[in-house]
Amino acid sequence: MSFNELGLSPKVLEAVTAAGYTTPTAIQAQAIPHALQRKDVMGLAQTGSGKTAAFVLPMLSMLESGRARARMPRTLILEPTRELAAQVEESFATLGKNHKLTVALLIGGVAFEPQAAKIDRGADVVIATPGRLLDHFERGRLLMTGIEMLVIDEADRMLDMGFIPDIERICKLLPFTRQTMFFSATMPPEIQRLTAQFLHNPVKVETAARSSTAETIEQKLVKTPHDPKAKRDTLRALIRSQENIKNGIVFANRKTTVALLEKSLKRHGFNAGALHGDMDQSARMKTLAAFRSNELTLLIASDVAARGLDIPDVSHVFNFDVPIHSEDYVHRIGRTGRAGREGHAFTMVTREESKYINAILALIKKDLPYFDIPGGAASGEEAEGDSPAPARKRGAKRPERHERAEREAKPERQERAEREAKPERQEREERPERAERQAAEQAPQAPRRDSQSARPQRSERRPRHSSHDDDAAPHETGFHAGNMPAFLARK
Ligand code: AMP
Repeated sequence: MSFNELGLSPKVLEAVTAAGYTTPTAIQAQAIPHALQRKDVMGLAQTGSGKTAAFVLPMLSMLESGRARARMPRTLILEPTRELAAQVEESFATLGKNHKLTVALLIGGVAFEPQAAKIDRGADVVIATPGRLLDHFERGRLLMTGIEMLVIDEADRMLDMGFIPDIERICKLLPFTRQTMFFSATMPPEIQRLTAQFLHNPVKVETAARSSTAETIEQKLVKTPHDPKAKRDTLRALIRSQENIKNGIVFANRKTTVALLEKSLKRHGFNAGALHGDMDQSARMKTLAAFRSNELTLLIASDVAARGLDIPDVSHVFNFDVPIHSEDYVHRIGRTGRAGREGHAFTMVTREESKYINAILALIKKDLPYFDIPGGAASGEEAEGDSPAPARKRGAKRPERHERAEREAKPERQERAEREAKPERQEREERPERAERQAAEQAPQAPRRDSQSARPQRSERRPRHSSHDDDAAPHETGFHAGNMPAFLARK
């Protein structure tokens, strides 16, 4: 199948060729012809499947006729996070280069007025996170009655982040006759209910199930002790053992670990940067841009911060911690081996994490081999310290302040204290704008929630589960002798 057979316009096809795409991915081949016929599409597809182009390309073809009016955008794309929204905007810059379109990015964390000014002039495409979109609507800066096509992307992420009530509200504000394209990696009951309510006879298209991992990814496990310093030794030795490494993402389960790893890797001479939910939008974008342009070789990230990021050419993924939720493993290693490229994924496993690795092996239906780091964890450098710090000799240099602090800190206690101190949904992307909106909701001139008064306030609603909360307590770990992989078993 080639792009020429899909029914796209010549202008779109030219941009596709210029982008270097030669063959449509499965989701593109299945979805685009239906989308061009103005049918509703429900796509079961994950990040990395090429789903962005699956909706951007037909949208571009459709926008070739007609024009936008002031404050009345013609198409709307909803994304769960600011980063995803910004990436879709980049896709429009690449694939829409032959179309003189006005694309407005409505995301939180950046100034409101320039966004509103863009809509005032007439936007062909609005790419938005739900909270900021509703802000614009509530302030009377945007009318949604001119929307011809709606895209709901990463619907299961929206569910995880508690956005479904916002999505329902937005859908009700749009014309009934609009076309809807809906994408989700999984279809839990809440998502099925949403599609039943807001899609009309959708064509269902599907790519590889989420539990599968690409064949182009070499996946290996690496034994590591539980001790945090020894783990960091293992990580450095592992990274150094990879001759063909171009760049890599190091995943950790907690924000605190992400920050610690960044410091530690930098101290050991690695070109590393971190991505976590406490960073402001511009700092995140800067780090991402540096990583994309290869100025930065290693990106250390938590699951939330890295959710849905499109970084096309990552050679390695290193899981510093085994993800507690098996699905996150598939997401993490999906950062490499994209679009048929070769990728390498290493997962460091402590004995305490055997339960989680067994669940992952069951999910992906694969048995992963173990990788022995040539020369062992402390090869080629002085280890950061496997055991309690040796007594300092008289006159010996005092360790650096941060090293001391690391050693002195009791990581688990410290993390627990932090967990308790922080609200559960701290990492959600939409906080500032939501707070603003709540203030607007409480204002006398905006009695909007009356009809929904039974529904708990946004601040009271909880995400469906806490897998995306970096600071969530890890599940109780235990020694499950029955399920132990051989290498972990006690001799
Ligand atoms: P997505 O799943 O939309 O995040 O896309 C994943 C990556 O695949 C992005 O870097 C796209 O630029 C790339 N991509 C999308 N479609 C194609 C295609 N037909 N051929 C090659 N690369 C593609």
